[in-house]
Formats: sequence, structure tokens, C-alpha cells
Amino acid sequence: MKKVEAVRGMSDILPEEALLWQHLEAEIREAVALYGYREIRTPIVERAELFARGVGEATDIVHKEMYVFPDKKGQMLALRPEATAPVVRAYIEHGLYAKGGVAKLYYIGPMFRYEKPQKGRKRQFHQYGVEALGSLDPALDAEVIDLAWFIMERLGLRREGLFLRLNSIGCPEDRPRYREALREYFLPYREKLCPDCQRRLDENPLRILDCKVPTCMEIAKDAPKSTDYLCEDCRLHFERLLGYLDALDLAYELDPKLVRGLDYYTRTVFELISRDLGAQDALLGGGRYDGLAEALGGPSIPGVGFAGGMERLILVLGKREVGDRCYRIITKPEVYLLPVGEGEVAEVLVDM
Ligand SMILES: [Zn+2]
Ligand SMILES: [Zn+2]
Repeated sequence: MKKVEAVRGMSDILPEEALLWQHLEAEIREAVALYGYREIRTPIVERAELFARGVGEATDIVHKEMYVFPDKKGQMLALRPEATAPVVRAYIEHGLYAKGGVAKLYYIGPMFRYEKPQKGRKRQFHQYGVEALGSLDPALDAEVIDLAWFIMERLGLRREGLFLRLNSIGCPEDRPRYREALREYFLPYREKLCPDCQRRLDENPLRILDCKVPTCMEIAKDAPKSTDYLCEDCRLHFERLLGYLDALDLAYELDPKLVRGLDYYTRTVFELISRDLGAQDALLGGGRYDGLAEALGGPSIPGVGFAGGMERLILVLGKREVGDRCYRIITKPEVYLLPVGEGEVAEVLVDM
């Protein structure tokens, strides 16, 4: 009979490798706990509408890559392609904002996107992430970025091997002016853009800046910068963030092409890149999403966070011997009991 195999793009993690996963997860949990984050576990299945409204109908994630299916009553469900929208949904649903202050939540778990499987990119992949909800203060953006660096350092990744791409894409008031400037810029190149970007030109020209097709990248080189279209509040927010990052001695590279492929971002967007992986593959990415809670039917509550890929981390860390670095994880029995004869098997079972 033909063997039943795992679904393409969905991998087993075998015991040997699982040890490394446990180690990384333990390090991440401890790092975020030190910054005051508490775990939240949301379901893997959500209403498809959550991502259409949260992440954005026209984004690649929702438009092309999301696993969507009807349940037996015809309700459209989705395997979560990311966790920010689910976390914010849960935050609203359980009234976690009622206490006031900043809610700091983190998660680790599987996400699903129907993409072409390749190295470090699976259809079931795993992300860890943090969400800090309830403050507009750029000091919170800086703290979240500081935490990202802190996690990397704890995992043994050296600062020199990493760099931070940073940009501000402004608020919804700035967006139409910037979008218009981009549309005007790209319009003469319409025929030279890839088919996706021709669609993006009408739907959301910001996303052309994200395109990895070489001809599109070449055309986008001299496109208008989002930071030239910020309102006074957004400009100040960004300026103060840069000041805090300088005070924290955290290096960054301003990158006007960085817009991130999700609709919910406002103001700060960033990616932490490994020089080993190349600029196409961020180790983690995040930003501010001040309009997301409201877009999901909740109160207007700002937030900032990031998500990182476990598979990418493992690629960068390689098959490094973790050995005694797993000091907190019990990986084998501490005592062995061996029955000498058949008659002692029951006794040994009981004594275990
Ligand atoms: Zn603004
Ligand atoms: Zn393109």
C-alpha cells in the first residue's frame, strides 16, 4: 500500500530537533517575561473575517496565502496566518483594556500560509511574538525594539551579525497623500511592473515597495519616501523614537522601502535582519498598529509589537550543539530501574 505522508510544507519536528525548539522557546519565554509580557494562547482556527478586516483583504497573506474553508454550517473559517489580529481580538473580547495601562502579551505557536515551500519557509511555520497594547508613547516602540535585540542576544546571535531596518509609514491621515504620490510616481511605469504590482497600483501602491521582482525593485528605487509625508504628530513620534534608540545605543538603518505587507501598520515599522540570511528574510518584523483594535470592532486602543519566525532562527543558529545550554530542560531520565528477572517487572513498574 502507498505510504501516507505529511502534507507538503508541513514538517515533523523529530525528537533530536525538538530539543533545540524547547531550548529556544524557553529562552524566548524567559526573555519576554523579564520585560513584563505574559503568555496568551489563542485558537489556531478563527473566523476568516478577522484577517480580512485585521490584516487586510488585499494583502498577499489574506488574498493569496490564507487557508480558508467553510465549517459544516457554512461559516468561513481560517487557519491563522499570523497572530496579531487574534491577540487583539482576544484582548477586546475579554476586555483586557478595562484595567487601563499597557497590556503586554506574548505568544508562541504554529501559523499557516499557503506559500511555495522553501528553505526556512513552510506552510505550517512557527512564530513567537509580543504585543504591547494601550500606549501611543514612542518609548514603548523603543522598548519593544530593545526587547527584540535582547532576545537575539540571549539566543547567542551577535549584534554585528544583525541589523535593524526602520521606517515610519505615518497615520491614516497621511496615507492618502503618500499613496497618491506613489501612484503618480509608478503610473508611467505601469507596463513594466509585474502583474501583481499592476494590481497593487490600483489597490495599494505602498505594497509595490515590498515587491521582490527585480524590475519592480529597480523602478521603486527612487520612489517617494513615506517619511516625507508624515503629519506633525507622526514626525515627532518618529523623531522621539530615534532619540530613544540612540539613548539605548541601538543601531538602525532608515529604510524608506520598508512598508511591511500588512494593512494594520501605522507609524513605526521595523525588521531585524540577519546578515547571513540576506535582506529578503527578516528574523523578525513588527511595528505599530494604532487602528487595529478599532478595525476589529473594539475601542480605539493603540498597540505595537513584533513577530519572529522560529524556523528562521533555527536556520541562522544552525544545528548548533545545545547540550548543557538546555540547563532548564530535563531531557532524559535521572534514574533507571532494571528488573533482573521476569518476576521483578511488576515491582519495577510500581517503583517508577
Ligand atoms: Zn500622521
Ligand atoms: Zn512587482
